[in-house]
Amino acid sequence: MKISFLGANRLVSGSCYLIQTKYKKFLIDCGLFRGEESITRLNYLPFSFRPEEIDFVILTHAHIDHCGRIPQLFREGFNGQVYCTKSTMELCSIMLPDSGQIQETDALEENQRRLRTGETFVEPLYDIEDALDSLMLFRAVPYQYKISIDENISFRFQDAGHVLGSASVELWVKEEDKTVKWVFSGDIGRKNKPFLKNPQRIKDADYVVIESTYGGRKNRPYRQEVKKFFSIIDKTIKRGGDVVIPAFALQRTQDIIYELSHYYNVQLKQLTNKDKKLKKLKFYLDSPLAIAVTKIYRNNPQDFAQKDLRIMENKNQLLDFQSLKMTTTANASKQINRSKRSKIIISAGGMCDGGRIQYHLKEHLWKKESSIIFVGYQAEGTLGRKIVSGEKSLDILDEMVDVRAEIHHLDGFSSHADQDELIWWMKGLKNKPKKVFVVHGEKEESESLAEQFKEQLGFETHIPVIGETFLIKDKKIITQGMIKDSNKELQLNEILTDLNKIRHKFYLLLNELELSGMDNEQENLWYKIKQKVEELQKDIRRVKCLIKENELEV
Ligand SMILES: [Zn+2]
Repeated sequence: MKISFLGANRLVSGSCYLIQTKYKKFLIDCGLFRGEESITRLNYLPFSFRPEEIDFVILTHAHIDHCGRIPQLFREGFNGQVYCTKSTMELCSIMLPDSGQIQETDALEENQRRLRTGETFVEPLYDIEDALDSLMLFRAVPYQYKISIDENISFRFQDAGHVLGSASVELWVKEEDKTVKWVFSGDIGRKNKPFLKNPQRIKDADYVVIESTYGGRKNRPYRQEVKKFFSIIDKTIKRGGDVVIPAFALQRTQDIIYELSHYYNVQLKQLTNKDKKLKKLKFYLDSPLAIAVTKIYRNNPQDFAQKDLRIMENKNQLLDFQSLKMTTTANASKQINRSKRSKIIISAGGMCDGGRIQYHLKEHLWKKESSIIFVGYQAEGTLGRKIVSGEKSLDILDEMVDVRAEIHHLDGFSSHADQDELIWWMKGLKNKPKKVFVVHGEKEESESLAEQFKEQLGFETHIPVIGETFLIKDKKIITQGMIKDSNKELQLNEILTDLNKIRHKFYLLLNELELSGMDNEQENLWYKIKQKVEELQKDIRRVKCLIKENELEV
């Protein structure tokens, strides 16, 4: 068998691993590249395989950097099944069309720019319809059941405790009577976070592919961060301000709703008349995407931790409480800031680069009594990053807004295991794997985690680069190289054919010109062009040889 690392290598997005056996080709995850332009550009490169040749996809969870290219895969010919948990399937039915909408808008904006410069138009990676159609391919598979694809390949999902429905994958591949067991960690969550189950550790593996998002860091203790969160809210409300919380629609919003419901269900009953403001406090969830995702959480209590589920069920309020209003329509959203009552507004996007959150920021950033609480990572270049790094005046929805509100950044709400937790997870293995591949992390994070695996556990590690491919026989790594890129080879062949056609045309032209007579200058020019075409052809032949050299045969 061969495994190729096609994304999330020395970066945190674009998760995609291709496995090829004698009879099957399949993917673990097929995610979008996100972040800076140099990274998102990777989405526009052709896949390194032919989508129609992929037999199936095993999907770890519904974050867009793990599932976001499935509609594109489908649009380009993939017609196999996508195996995931029931919650992941339901979440994808919301997340993928939303991503399709974003792709359409992005392409529209880019084409408006190109219209002015006269460049050729771009196509969206996929549209809402592709996303909706691709959902037909999804098949829900329960946790902890071993699923056989055929007599040689089987897999099993274990709860990864990262977001609702998230899974680690145990994969068994049998070749020539030898079975190799792979473990793909997916994104691993934190221990003892509310309502999600703890990440499930896996007992044995020949090879492990593990994430390292926070591989070099230590998370701030969760309960301590929650305490800080409520102290900011209490102070803000008491001084007559409102609280705005930009939050990601999947998981972070539900974490916040859980904490708010838990706190205020108890707290509000104990308030005296002196705390009138707190008693009348209103809560808004103002994001159609986050509302839809929250409803899916409520419909899947089977994936909740039993102790927290009991608390929520006793109150008959699963991720809900009396004063929480969900505003789906644009009109209801506009009404929020007209109300004079103290309020807490949770809205998306989490990094403030789009969505209704921008309206709330415009309304509250300039008020010194209000607070903005960031509860997630803010990427370089986003509006959220500008606010947390202390910019004093910002362009929001085409207007300059002064920043006078209190700005807080609480990153302890993270859904990713930190270094200690990743080592704890790995200690679940009762055998020593032959190799541990460290992926899904910035270079330093992956290196730091790999170092600890070596030092503390004595594991052999490797941090792959994009395209790196390993051939495995008799359970051992036989050779490593770069993936044979069938799409690129196809393109190169097309270019070669075109060049040959051009050269042929030149010869015909030469004959014609020779017959009619050509002056010296024309002849010189023709000769130079002919030389260039031949040089190009040589270059392409050289690249073809390089690809051939690196080709690994199954
Ligand atoms: Zn994730």
